[in-house]
Amino acid sequence: MQLFGGIESGGTKFVCLVGNSPDNLIREERFPTTTPHETIDRLIEFFWPYIKSGELSAVGIASFGPLDLNPSSPTYGYITTTPKPGWNKIDLYGEIQRKLQVPVAFDTDVNAAAFGEQYWISENRAMDPFIYVTVGTGIGVGVIVNGFPLHGLIHAEAGHFAIPHNWQRDPFPGVCPYHGDCLEGLASGSSMRKRWGQDPESLPDLHPGWDLESDYIALALVNLIYAYSPQRIILGGGVSQHPGLLQAVRWKVQQFMNGYVQSAMLMDRIDEYILPPALGNRSGGLGAIAMATELVLA
Ligand SMILES: [Zn+2]
Repeated sequence: MQLFGGIESGGTKFVCLVGNSPDNLIREERFPTTTPHETIDRLIEFFWPYIKSGELSAVGIASFGPLDLNPSSPTYGYITTTPKPGWNKIDLYGEIQRKLQVPVAFDTDVNAAAFGEQYWISENRAMDPFIYVTVGTGIGVGVIVNGFPLHGLIHAEAGHFAIPHNWQRDPFPGVCPYHGDCLEGLASGSSMRKRWGQDPESLPDLHPGWDLESDYIALALVNLIYAYSPQRIILGGGVSQHPGLLQAVRWKVQQFMNGYVQSAMLMDRIDEYILPPALGNRSGGLGAIAMATELVLA
């Protein structure tokens, strides 16, 4: 059987998958992100039996970043400037490619998640441009155009959007080490934790923090809609799963646009326009498998 590997590398954990579709996953393992050396050794060990049996055709990596995604750059495939200790300038792609000796696809975790949601969900194939937004510990945005993740100078960093910040309503200065009160600085899980002194999961439903949160996310989505005119937006990540948040975001997107974009999808069918991920918390890993599949079968 022809199999593909998917690696979702995060700042706190790595998720490894082997299979060839969302319905046919042979094995899945999660382990904590420690030193690059130790972590990469563990994932090589995970994939090794399938390399030995000759079944593993390719591997996709969906990585936290920022990443160097320019194939002509000498540091292609590196994690570049992460605040994660020990992971600066790590050749993640090269290390894995050299050790496994199979073709390796490489992209950001959110680009991979966006790709996976479009690739595996047949209804989403027609939805292009297609955008995946994750609001978790950090905020990331993956944009798919013509069936492939959009790359440019590096990759989209819309998690760092500059958005209106009402200092009277929200005196919190934000947590982004680069910008303070950018979108991630104001609306990420880390910023909620610091602002309210508790985990977003334990913040009560009626806490004013949720109203603020849905405002910030809706503002970001409005900017994405103006910039890319996506046919569909997926809102993923742990924070987005809070009950009622998605509905509040949909309603506020309509309010903020104020009828400017004349699309029935936005005005009347926004429940079909902004959706939770169909692949749940496996969007990234299954996206990595989709990238690996595409590398070999395309
Ligand atoms: Zn920022």
